[in-house]
Amino acid sequence: MIPVTKPFLPPKEEYLDLIKGVWQNNWLTNNGPLVNNLEFRLKRYLNLKHLLFVSNGTIAIQIALKSLGITKEVITTPFSYVATTSSLVWEGCKPVFIDIDKDTFNIDPDKIEEAISDDTEAILATHCFGNPCDVDKIREIAEKHDLKVIYDAAHCFGTKYKGKSIFEWGDISTASFHATKLYHTVEGGAVFTSDPALLKQMAWRRNFGHKGMEDFYGVGINGKNSEFHAAMGIVNLSYIDQLLENRKKQSFAYDKMLSKAAVKKPRIAEHTAYNYSYYPVVFENEQITLRIMNSLERKGIYPRRYFYPTLSSLNYVEHSETPVANDISSRILCLPMYHQLTDVEIEMICRLIAMVLNN
Ligand SMILES: *Cc1c(COP(=O)(O)O)cnc(C)c1O
Repeated sequence: MIPVTKPFLPPKEEYLDLIKGVWQNNWLTNNGPLVNNLEFRLKRYLNLKHLLFVSNGTIAIQIALKSLGITKEVITTPFSYVATTSSLVWEGCKPVFIDIDKDTFNIDPDKIEEAISDDTEAILATHCFGNPCDVDKIREIAEKHDLKVIYDAAHCFGTKYKGKSIFEWGDISTASFHATKLYHTVEGGAVFTSDPALLKQMAWRRNFGHKGMEDFYGVGINGKNSEFHAAMGIVNLSYIDQLLENRKKQSFAYDKMLSKAAVKKPRIAEHTAYNYSYYPVVFENEQITLRIMNSLERKGIYPRRYFYPTLSSLNYVEHSETPVANDISSRILCLPMYHQLTDVEIEMICRLIAMVLNN
């Protein structure tokens, strides 16, 4: 079977080696030495001053919203994973969906201003498939209207924009280190900010609001992560350059074999070192897309309709017209992409696609 993605697992011994210390000092969670070590290494790798390792990419968004004091309307994308929207609603905010750009699949900055109301407090945008949003334009609009910006950068590990980690953009950026992501800690995530006061707030919010043993800064949640997850993160970080390099090769192999096929790919933002984390392709119409999906599934290959349906159609949000997102969503597939995927498998997938497209 060829699924859309498979978690990367490092050599078992390397993981177990790190875990030995957990038995020695009986420290399993609560800001332990491995968590601290991972945070240190991630900062060094990403060349960032601040970040916090948290329990997953969803709680990361929730901690970001809570720490920025966002409680009302948030302008957001309909084309992302459900967690981008559900965390807004969970925090009591109202998602206001605007359409995406037809070429990048990211939020269309030209649609932001017309969606701003007296209740608008923030923009929550996803760098879809690791492709940076128009961050410069979004910053300009946010500054003009005094809005906060949060980036759901769940897909972005390794992506750089203008030579810096994409996690540097926004008041806060969030990442997911879930097992299915390019870089993972089994379950996990992170929040990023350049503001030390905001970092400190997110740190106490992550830990129940604790201010010492018996005092509290304010309302918090359990957003901590464990030594076991940190250990996986430390080992996996030593493979990250290999993972990124291989993704690029695999992506080029797909490009080459699909060069004659009628498929459209997202346009990657300028000034970007892309991480090639996913391989999304858009076909001519929904019917062809479903035929390709069926034909691949019959051979045990499982692409996924990322992202279908659009988030503005969820049953707990106010609907809005997002025709571009609906259109892309109806005819996009993410083709299999993971470290162990071979050239032969990529060739087989592309041949099956060509067979459907050619008849
Ligand atoms: C994976 C993902 C999340 C959620 O991350 P978890 O770590 O699974 O909670 C949020 N947003 C996007 C865009 C994602 O792909």
